[in-house]
Amino acid sequence: MTKRAVWFRRDLRLQDNTALAKALEHTKDGDELLLFFHIHPALNESFTARHDYFFQTLASFVEKAEDAGAPVHFITGDTEDAFENLIETAGIDMVYFNRDETGFGYERDKQVEKYVTSLDVDVYHYLDHHIHGADEVKKQDGGFYKVFTPYLKKWKQLPKPAVQKVDDELLKKAAVDERASFKEGESAYADLLEKIEADFGGVGEADAWARLEQFLDADIYDYDERRDFPAVDGTSLMSRYLRTGAISVRSVYHQIHDQVDFRKKTEGVETYISELAWRDFYNMIYHFYPNAHDEEVVEKYQGIPWNNDEDVLERWKEGRTGFPIIDAAMRQLNESGWMHNRLRMAVASFLTKDLLMDWRKGERYFQEKLVDYDPASNIGGWQWAASTGTDPVPYFRVFNPTRQSERFDPHGRFIKEWLPELRDVPKKYIHEPAKMPENEQEKAKCMIGEDYPEPLVDHKRMRERAIQLFKDKS
Ligand SMILES: Cc1cc2nc3c(=O)[nH]c(=O)nc-3n(C[C@H](O)[C@H](O)[C@H](O)COP(=O)(O)OP(=O)(O)OC[C@H]3O[C@@H](n4cnc5c(N)ncnc54)[C@H](O)[C@@H]3O)c2cc1C
Repeated sequence: MTKRAVWFRRDLRLQDNTALAKALEHTKDGDELLLFFHIHPALNESFTARHDYFFQTLASFVEKAEDAGAPVHFITGDTEDAFENLIETAGIDMVYFNRDETGFGYERDKQVEKYVTSLDVDVYHYLDHHIHGADEVKKQDGGFYKVFTPYLKKWKQLPKPAVQKVDDELLKKAAVDERASFKEGESAYADLLEKIEADFGGVGEADAWARLEQFLDADIYDYDERRDFPAVDGTSLMSRYLRTGAISVRSVYHQIHDQVDFRKKTEGVETYISELAWRDFYNMIYHFYPNAHDEEVVEKYQGIPWNNDEDVLERWKEGRTGFPIIDAAMRQLNESGWMHNRLRMAVASFLTKDLLMDWRKGERYFQEKLVDYDPASNIGGWQWAASTGTDPVPYFRVFNPTRQSERFDPHGRFIKEWLPELRDVPKKYIHEPAKMPENEQEKAKCMIGEDYPEPLVDHKRMRERAIQLFKDKS
């Protein structure tokens, strides 16, 4: 009899889970399977929006696994202690997991593999979080792509990994319930659940599938046209599910091909698939630039003398800059744990080019607030906007926040949704309320400087200063 353990991390689902499917494929009559989750103290020192959301997803997964007859066990403590306890207490012969290719997870996986192997336990790990892993999409000469368009071309040509079917019957038969031996882990899990404060909605495997079906029924066909307008529900909202692994990105990819009617207009579908490729691209970039969390990828832009004014940073964080589209976006982030992509680009550009503040400060703030926080995509997005990353927005093409607002929220519907103080401001002034004459301000019950701030900076002037900063480093 062989006893296998499957380690769940950011792949909180039972369907199309490579490590789980493989462990079951290797299972023979009489073999046993133990599902577990490791509560690492370092991961939970600060409890932010994404912790609330992640542990809600975990709770939903735990329930689902219980219903499927395969309970989740919890281990806790530093990695080596926790794994030693698991292996000794349960008598594990093999550990299975879906590996990380970047950041903390990557380092942890290497440590676990080394340690667990030293205890004479076999380790099997798989690529699962992405359609193509960091080493799969290569140039002719074997190097990796730094520019997205040729990467995408190659990405599209490669055969795609198949859905990993999980045998539910076998799972039920092989799964063990030894939770009574892992009391410490159980109580660490109960403590985590106690800490959850906010409810961001849309949690777990069933919600992920329902949302995907809804998107594929209709919205995907016009995704290319509607995705840039934050007042419209034009995007899939899959990021939180992909982040927690409530759904597999392979399933998303294959479901598109199974369900979408390719006789209809396909630009939306093509654009959507290329967004999934961006996710793989940034994972690859972070893999090959492991310092990108702290350091500009383009070396010559390291050491830019950023502005350190903490008050200015606070005003950006709180959505009090006097630029309505920026403020509405920041309030959406603060209140809902998510921000529309067009606005992530706009607020990141605003922080780095209009306020001349360090992109790392923005990256860290998103880390605190986003429920879909994914280090590779977030660092990629921030370094793109700051013009310091691979294939970034050129430093001389500075976003004009007012033009962005006029173009992508023409009627000010999004602005008014998140900034109630501007509800009665006429359309003519909604993108630049400070231009309202005093009598209009009175009519709109919005006095500039009291109810809504004056613009924090002069965009035209700051644009020139930003360009100069970069020129000085070029
Ligand atoms: C400054 C900045 C920070 C970002 N931080 C994150 C982050 O922490 N986590 C995150 O998942 N995405 C991040 N993005 C990418 C993007 O904004 C979100 O993935 C998207 O808004 C999520 O909403 P959605 O699921 O409706 O996206 P859709 O438009 O429906 O896209 C579908 C999926 O494709 C992927 N995707 C889309 N755009 C990108 C992109 N530019 N880069 C990488 N993957 C993409 C996501 O997985 C997304 O769920 C960031 C972008 C910027 C500019």
